[in-house]
Amino acid sequence: MRIRLLGAHNCESASARLPGILIDNTLLLDAGGVTSGLSLKEQEALKAVCLTHQHYDHIRDVPVLTMNRHIMGKSLDVYSTTSVRDALAYLLNGALYPNFFERPPENPTLKFNTLQAGQTKQVAGYSVLTVQVGHSVPSVGFQVTSKNGRTMFYTGDTGPGLSDCWQQTSPQLLIIEVTTSNKYEESSRKARHMTPAFLKEELVSFRELKGYLPRVIAVHMNPTMENEIAAELTAVAGELGCSITPGREGMELDI
Ligand SMILES: [Zn+2]
Ligand SMILES: [Zn+2]
Repeated sequence: MRIRLLGAHNCESASARLPGILIDNTLLLDAGGVTSGLSLKEQEALKAVCLTHQHYDHIRDVPVLTMNRHIMGKSLDVYSTTSVRDALAYLLNGALYPNFFERPPENPTLKFNTLQAGQTKQVAGYSVLTVQVGHSVPSVGFQVTSKNGRTMFYTGDTGPGLSDCWQQTSPQLLIIEVTTSNKYEESSRKARHMTPAFLKEELVSFRELKGYLPRVIAVHMNPTMENEIAAELTAVAGELGCSITPGREGMELDI
């Protein structure tokens, strides 16, 4: 399984893109950094998109990607929860942008498939387990398992308190959000995001339950705090004796 980070931040700039993870060039988790990060040929090769929640930084490229697929004459399979479907229906309402849920009438470009937490679905040749996480709006993470048994888990946006989540997942690679540095612990707790200190607590609970720690990649970092977050993650990795790496745009990982 080859994993490529299209975007590893929660804000966009010339050097930072919104969250998007590409698996084996075919399955996309969250839709940030997609149309600016992939050629038209790569966009055409996508088989499915799984979205964690409705926040704009995670769904932003769906309308433009769908337009590109429409022009190519190819439909796009999108998988997510009903609240995300409603958010996409709001954006693709025929006034802001074409309603690709219904256009073209004979074969609509956007094909929406509903996911429910706790269920495993076959998506583009992978087993995708949808796992509820705790964020400010209904949000899920995805455990993706390939045919040859390689497994990664992407949390999407979440606050601390992931022990229920760990019960359900056993990944070789964990891609988890770490949005702010430890200095912003209180505001992060309120907005339901992670800091390096929260991550440490969650990894301790993971290890107690599972007896190991996966390789960890941090994403959704606030670019203005990146250096601070990286230093704090290095400290956590040293304390736990594990590998924690800040993600970056274009990073490729093989598991
Ligand atoms: Zn969010
Ligand atoms: Zn976000």
